[in-house]
Amino acid sequence: MVIKNASYLISSPTWQKCPAPDRPEYAFIGRSNVGKSSLINMLCQRQSLAKTSATPGKTQMINHFAIESSQKEKGPKFNWYLVDLPGYGYAKVAQKSRKAWSKMIEEYISGRQNLMHLFVLIDARHKPQAIDLEFVMALGHWQIPFTLVYTKSDKEKPGVVKRNVELFLEELKTSWQFLPQVIVTSATKKAGRDEVLELIDSLNDQ
Ligand code: GDP
Repeated sequence: MVIKNASYLISSPTWQKCPAPDRPEYAFIGRSNVGKSSLINMLCQRQSLAKTSATPGKTQMINHFAIESSQKEKGPKFNWYLVDLPGYGYAKVAQKSRKAWSKMIEEYISGRQNLMHLFVLIDARHKPQAIDLEFVMALGHWQIPFTLVYTKSDKEKPGVVKRNVELFLEELKTSWQFLPQVIVTSATKKAGRDEVLELIDSLNDQ
């Protein structure tokens, strides 16, 4: 897939206020500082489409971007939404805001009818973190298809990243029969871009 144009559309406080669900939608979520903005910018080949390092906890909005892409085989334009969801795990955020975040995300995931797939970002440098496991486990209940996207892989040795991925999947295996797909990325090295876009392309085709 070739991205021809990417532009910011709107930030919405609830899924009901999001743009009309008239195109397939792909959402990105992860712990604060996981590298979500950097990954979105890398995917769209734009330096500051998504803001990097926005003030923690201040950006509790569902951010929509309009993506104009052309599919290699088919030729004609195909448009989809990329969604930047507010991150979880801000240490300084009060209990009340955390509850509001959970409610917003749960409602968005279960209510947004054009949501095709969720990309859950995980920092490749770390062993499985409780907060990531907890969120991924919740996705099992909501029954939304998702992929684990490991970020910042350039910051760690490939063997360590591989081990961190294995450990995470082992944790999931204790309760799940089917394991999610994993894509290892680095915004700095522009690694994993094709895999993410090819997955979106294949889901758009379905
Ligand atoms: P967000 O809060 O999840 O949107 O995270 P950001 O995209 O703002 O990234 C947080 C920090 O990690 C910034 O200092 C980025 O420059 C850095 N970062 C993000 N992705 C990568 C990466 O792939 N490699 C390296 N080395 N640093 C990264």
